[in-house]
Amino acid sequence: MPRFDLEKCHLGGLELWLRYWYRRGPRFAYYQQQLKKTSRLAPPELERFQNRKLQALITQSYQHIPYYRDLMDQLKLKPHDIQTKQDLRKLPFLTKKLVTDNYDKLIHPHKRNFLSKVACTSGTTGSPGKFMRSFDSINFEHAAVWRQWQFAGDTGKRRITLRGEVVVPMAQSEPPYWRYNPANQELLMCGFHLNEKTGRAYIEKILKFQPEILSSYPSNAYRLAHLFKKHRINYRFQAVFTSSEELSPRMKDYIEAVFQTQVYDWYGQSERVAAIAHCQAGRYHIQEDYSLVELVPHEQQFEIVGTHLFNDLMPLIRYRTGDMVSPALKPCRCGSSFRCVESISGRSCAYILTPEGYKISAANHIFHGVEHLLEAQLYQDHPEVLTIYYVPDTDFTNDDRQKLLTNAIANTSPRFQVILKEVSHIARGANGKFQSIVNLLAQHEPLSEMPDVLSAV
Ligand SMILES: [Zn+2]
Repeated sequence: MPRFDLEKCHLGGLELWLRYWYRRGPRFAYYQQQLKKTSRLAPPELERFQNRKLQALITQSYQHIPYYRDLMDQLKLKPHDIQTKQDLRKLPFLTKKLVTDNYDKLIHPHKRNFLSKVACTSGTTGSPGKFMRSFDSINFEHAAVWRQWQFAGDTGKRRITLRGEVVVPMAQSEPPYWRYNPANQELLMCGFHLNEKTGRAYIEKILKFQPEILSSYPSNAYRLAHLFKKHRINYRFQAVFTSSEELSPRMKDYIEAVFQTQVYDWYGQSERVAAIAHCQAGRYHIQEDYSLVELVPHEQQFEIVGTHLFNDLMPLIRYRTGDMVSPALKPCRCGSSFRCVESISGRSCAYILTPEGYKISAANHIFHGVEHLLEAQLYQDHPEVLTIYYVPDTDFTNDDRQKLLTNAIANTSPRFQVILKEVSHIARGANGKFQSIVNLLAQHEPLSEMPDVLSAV
């Protein structure tokens, strides 16, 4: 077992323990039990459960959340007017802009305390935003994720995690590109350093560590699978858990074939208004006991609109995610009463290419803690230059600008020349969707042995 070295860990040891404690706080075990029961509910019981939770949410929101009290008064609605999921339609949609404009009015004044957390989103399908989570809702979220892991046979098995955090400094050019996290008994591997040159070191470490579970961004799991195949090394994971990026069927098949396993994908957002997860039969199911999800028709697809059931600190009701699902073509054989969908789209697969050759697809860390940003986009048209277009609001200060610059360098490469460009508007892509990352180099990148994740979509 590798020893944990606090001094060498880019993610502070204290931070890792704090995160563990936040996720598995006093209500974690309670929610695990509750979720086990609600996953087995028949449709009529499930609907009664949802309506009960909704009635409590609406009553609380009317009594304590100024935004909803004003809105319902304007619409001449009282809590008893909203009893069922169908009644929710009496309220208008909520958008990220409305949340930003009414941030303080959406917070329950008596539930906010030192354990509450602010979550930021980079806005892969819209502008950056921030949301408040209660300690209780963080416990609930992780109990819900754990339910999927347990269905897949993971009861706390040896795992490696290969996601979007900078585990070791970006400038580091020699192994180890990983750290042991004793809080979760996992090996945290740095996804940014994973490439053709470093692949062998990653493989040797994995063979030595012998994990049974891989928890990863789809693009990282795909690259890792390619490296194992290239080096002709057989390795079997009991399960691969992916989340936070779009998982294409081709990527899923490739990862499953190389690692002789099943991929379990989890769809969620920073707002946590909807979760969709793969079952044991490999199909996506809306987690109906996690939130209330409406599928609103949009061209050939359906937009995911979600309502919190477990975050009474800042309840989001009828929140538009901008993400789309395709309806299921046939029912799932697993027997779950949760609705099934065929596919999910909307999560960005674009990336920034650093001078060291690392691909960075998660922009969240760059905007973390930068206040008063309306929109921002990472743009690259030169190997050593990163441009950030941003639309400030009227309170944007020099401190915000400095924070953005510092974050950008710390989370990409010290070799980047970072240019901040203030603009009044950021142009949308051809499909009308906001793009948080635009990389012109990626379109001209020479073909290499490493299959690009974009070609697999
Ligand atoms: Zn199923």
